[in-house]
Amino acid sequence: MSIKVLKFGGSSVGSPEAMGRAAAIVREELPNGGLVVVSALKGGTDRILEAVALAAKGDAAQARLVQEALESHHRNTASALGLLEEVREGWTPVFERLAKLLGGMAMLGEATPRARDAALAVGETLSAQLFAALLRHRGARAAFRDVGEVLHTDARFGQARPHLPALRKAAQAWAPELNGGATFVTQGFLGAAPDGAITTLGRGGSDTSASLLGEALDAAEVQIWTDVDGVLSADPSLVPEARPIPVMSLAEATSLTAFGAKVLHPDSLAPIARSGIRLVVANTLRPRASRTAILPEVPERGEGVVSVAYKEGLVILRLPASRSLLAEAAAKAAQVEEAGAHRFGFLVTPEGALIVLRPETIAARQLLNQWQQEGLELEEGWAVVALVGEGLRKDPAAKLRLLEPLGADAGAIGGLLAGCSAISTAALVREHRLVDLIPRLHRAWVETSLASASV
Ligand code: ADP
Ligand code: ASP
Ligand code: MG
Repeated sequence: MSIKVLKFGGSSVGSPEAMGRAAAIVREELPNGGLVVVSALKGGTDRILEAVALAAKGDAAQARLVQEALESHHRNTASALGLLEEVREGWTPVFERLAKLLGGMAMLGEATPRARDAALAVGETLSAQLFAALLRHRGARAAFRDVGEVLHTDARFGQARPHLPALRKAAQAWAPELNGGATFVTQGFLGAAPDGAITTLGRGGSDTSASLLGEALDAAEVQIWTDVDGVLSADPSLVPEARPIPVMSLAEATSLTAFGAKVLHPDSLAPIARSGIRLVVANTLRPRASRTAILPEVPERGEGVVSVAYKEGLVILRLPASRSLLAEAAAKAAQVEEAGAHRFGFLVTPEGALIVLRPETIAARQLLNQWQQEGLELEEGWAVVALVGEGLRKDPAAKLRLLEPLGADAGAIGGLLAGCSAISTAALVREHRLVDLIPRLHRAWVETSLASASV
C-alpha cells in the first residue's frame, strides 16, 4: 500500500479550531494511517526569532518574557483542546531546553546559527506533539516521531540541504508501521546534521520536508494544506480577484515558486520532480473547496498565462566589462549565495554583468556593502515580476508582448529577465510599484484569458 503525506502549515494549526479542522482532514484522508508533517503554530517561529534576537543582544529578561508569551500561547491552545495534561510530559523538556539555549545566548551575547536552529526547532516540536495528541484523542493510532530520526542534512545551519541516500535509508525504518496503519506526526522545517545537531531548511521549509519525506517513502501523494484554495493566479493580498488553478504542471509550479509565490517553498518541488509523486495544494479552512493538483504535464488548455508571481527586496549588482568578466561575475554570485543570498538573475554581456540578488542573511548584506565600498555599483529597491503558463511554449513572441502593460512606466522597469524557461517571462520593476503593477498584469493577461476560456 502506498503512503500519503499531509503537511499542515502554520495557519492550519494556528488556533484550536484550525487544529480541529486539520484533525478532521487527517481522519478523512488517512483512514489507514500515513505521515503528517506540521509547521509551528502560526507566528511561533517569528516569536522564537524575536526571543533569540533579544538574547543575542544580552537582554535575558526580555527574551524570557517572549518565551513566557510563547509558552502561554501553546498552553492555552492545548487547554482549549482539552489536551494540556496529555502534552505536559513531552513539552516540559522542550520549554526547558529553550530557556537554557536563550540563557546561553544571553550570557555570550551571541546566537550562533547552530544555537538558533536548536531554538527554532522548539516551534515545530511543540506543535507536532500537540497534533499527535489531538489525533489520539480523536481515536487515531497516532504517535509523535522526531524528524531528526530520518531527515539527515548537511551542517549548513539555517539553510540545510538534505542528504538523500541517508534520508531514504532511515525512512525505511518508518515504512513498516506507516504501511501497517499507524499515523506518525512529525516536525516540518527541521533536519539533523551529521553530528546529530538540529538544522533548519530555511523559512517556509516545511513544504520541502513533506516532499522530501514523500520521496524517501515512495509516497503516492503529498498534500500541502494551507489557508487558500490551492495555488492561485496571483498573491491574493495584492489581487483579491485571484482564482484557483485546478491543475498545473510541475514546470509552472517550479517557475512560480522560483519567482516568489509563497504558497510553496521553492525547494519543495525538486523531490516531486525526481519522484513523480502527485502534489496537491488544498485549503484547511475550506477542505471541500477547489484544490490544485500539480502534475508532471497538463492537458492542453486555453490560457496563455496562468499566474503572476513576484519577489521584492532585490538588489542589482553591476560589474563593468573586463576580460575575465564571466569568471569574475560567477565567482561573486557564488560567494554571495554561499553567504546567504538568493539569486534571481545573472546576465553577462560584452558591456558588463548584472546579478540580481535577495540578501537573506546579515553576512550576505555585509558582503554586498563591502563590494559597494570597493567601487561596485549596487542598486536597491528592486523586485521581479513573472508571468507563467504552459501556453507560452507555443508562442515565444508573447513573452515581450506580455510585459507591455508595464511599458507606460519608464521609471518602473529595470530590464528583462526572460529567456531561460519556455513557460515564463520576467522583468525587474521598482519595488514600490508592485501594488499597482501586479493587479495590472493580472487584469491584462489572466483575467482576460480566463474570461475568454470560459466563453
Ligand atoms: P503556510 O503557513 O500554510 O505554509 P504560507 O503563508 O507559507 O502558508 O503560504 C500561503 C500564502 O501564500 C497564502 O495565504 C497567500 O497569501 C500566499 N500566496 C502568494 N502567492 C500565492 C499564489 N500564487 N497562490 C496562493 N497563495 C499565494
Ligand atoms: N515554521 C517555519 C517558518 O515559519 C517553517 C514553515 O512554516 O514552513 O518559516
Ligand atoms: Mg509556507
